Amino acid sequence: MGEQRPFQTIGIIGGGQLGRMLALAAARLGHKTIVLDPAENCPAAQVCNGHIIAAYDDTSALYELSTCDVVTFEFENVDLEAIRALQKRSHVAPNPGALEISQDRLTEKRFLKDAGLTTVAFENIEDAIQLEKALGAFDGKGILKTRRFGYDGKGQISFKGRSDDPTPANALDQIAYAPAILEAFVPFTSEISVIITRGTDGESVCFDPAGNVHMDGILHTSTVPAAVPHLTLQNAQAHAERVAQALNYVGTLGLEFFVLNDGTLIANEFAPRVHNSGHWTEAACTIDQFEMHIRAITGWPLPQPVRHSNAVMENLIGNDIAKLATLAELGEAKLHDYGKSEARPGRKMGHVTRLTPKNIG
Ligand code: AMP
Repeated sequence: MGEQRPFQTIGIIGGGQLGRMLALAAARLGHKTIVLDPAENCPAAQVCNGHIIAAYDDTSALYELSTCDVVTFEFENVDLEAIRALQKRSHVAPNPGALEISQDRLTEKRFLKDAGLTTVAFENIEDAIQLEKALGAFDGKGILKTRRFGYDGKGQISFKGRSDDPTPANALDQIAYAPAILEAFVPFTSEISVIITRGTDGESVCFDPAGNVHMDGILHTSTVPAAVPHLTLQNAQAHAERVAQALNYVGTLGLEFFVLNDGTLIANEFAPRVHNSGHWTEAACTIDQFEMHIRAITGWPLPQPVRHSNAVMENLIGNDIAKLATLAELGEAKLHDYGKSEARPGRKMGHVTRLTPKNIG
């Protein structure tokens, strides 16, 4: 007979829906969670054992969190200095190095290229002259993205090669002249993502890649299996393994790709955390991405989860959450409401995963 594994206390920086789902998974395994988030009634605080209400860079709050057996985070814009200070006193996973790379699109793209992945052509943009030159090189088409603090399409300006495009100076004005990159426009046929979990022993486990559809820069649906050839999916998983290894990563990570007509995979970005496009795993797999993350950072085994169903996860954004009452009547739909009291436009309020039987053979 095996021995019971020791329960641990896990600190989570960030109390949004990802923190909430991590806390729920941790509770199922017998662990306790303490979340650090400045908002009093944040989604994670509703389901965890302790809530430190403080700013993410509050030194005494971080000191309190350092009493946990392990500290993790649910978003990538965690203050790097604060987490490095925390790392001196307690075990932090994944390592802040992964966080540092993902916080800057330029560093991230260079890292992905060095790891052997193909990225979109990009240029570092510091002024209007550089932007004008880069646009010339990309046929007038491209997406200007702030290097830092962009998410869900925020801090992005598109150039379509049309007369109504903003001028370079105007575009830079719109992003307050923040450091940026210009990416060439990718004529992708689909978008996919891979969720991978890597353990302390360097072994990793991949979920089936999901096919993702975005609306207004925000993830709308994730579908598994993705409608992409099997070989492309296998390649995407191999790339994810390479990225996780190059980062010496421990925990769950999401890696997003554009897929071209000929199956070429263009790596877009990675998130050093559980990922919205992996929420379907909660409903369609024996072990989900959240439990895999908790297992990895607490040293539990990481067996290959079994996907028992096909799945379509739909984000419920803003007032979409009102659909939950009707969805509740469907037996094949797994629901998740994040417990946010105010349904603002563009705000992720919950999600639903619809299951269908997986074809056998
Ligand atoms: P991101 O913030 O980089 O994840 O971008 C959000 C979404 O915008 C992506 O999932 C794509 O749908 C679209 N997008 C971003 N970058 C590009 C690009 N270089 N070419 C075409 N579409 C893009």
